[in-house]
Amino acid sequence: MKKILILFSAIAVLSSCDPGNGDDSFNIFTIEDDKNLGLQVAGQIESDSSEYDVLQPEDFPAAYDHLNRITNTILDGGEVFYRDEFEWRTRIIYDDSTLNAFCTPGGYIYVFTGLIHYLDNEDELAGVIGHEIAHADRRHSTDQLTKQYGISLLLQAALGEESALAEVGAGLLLLKYGRDAESEADEYSVRYLCPTDYNAAGGAGFFEKIEAAGGSSTPEFLSTHPSPDKRIENFYSWSDSLNCTGTNTNVDLYQDFKNSLPY
Ligand SMILES: [Zn+2]
Repeated sequence: MKKILILFSAIAVLSSCDPGNGDDSFNIFTIEDDKNLGLQVAGQIESDSSEYDVLQPEDFPAAYDHLNRITNTILDGGEVFYRDEFEWRTRIIYDDSTLNAFCTPGGYIYVFTGLIHYLDNEDELAGVIGHEIAHADRRHSTDQLTKQYGISLLLQAALGEESALAEVGAGLLLLKYGRDAESEADEYSVRYLCPTDYNAAGGAGFFEKIEAAGGSSTPEFLSTHPSPDKRIENFYSWSDSLNCTGTNTNVDLYQDFKNSLPY
């Protein structure tokens, strides 16, 4: 049995200041702070090859063509608020036992090979990526990280101060979002996918697979987050209420994506 990590809730995003994107949470970080912290955390992740075996784009061009095509389809749907401000750079982490994806502040997106292999089509992966993009775009982690570390340590980390970065970076990778943030990220996943050809409720596919696998595989995060049943129901009801019509699952292309990964 694969270990099902935080999944779909993962890590994510530190964020900031009242973004003007409808997010009413208090946040004194600026967009530049988000970008700087994301860059620093990404550097930290990618310098730790024993923990994170990041596949290099030049070594796996076909895999990155697929991942970037999916990600860019979401970004180009016109609903991502910080589409042009954040980096939205993708990396694949080679770890077939981890069903997870996450996004740092400022839009550095990471997807584990275990998740890519677990899913069956592009809609499902697009749904998960949309969810992670939402954590960055909605700047959800600000509240969590500021509560946990305080503003000054976060700002030091964003400036690359080493001990602060080590502490915040480690915390970011273990950060758990609250129920409201998870629900909102699911909702925005639907919103982002709705203008594309993808099934906007694609993210529901992940939870449907988890449920089909039976109770013994219940991930840890479900104890504190909306139930899979509720999340599945929400994905479909948001998609219905927005009159989303996409149905493209690209099953064959998705299989090509899987085949382009190392075994
Ligand atoms: Zn999440």
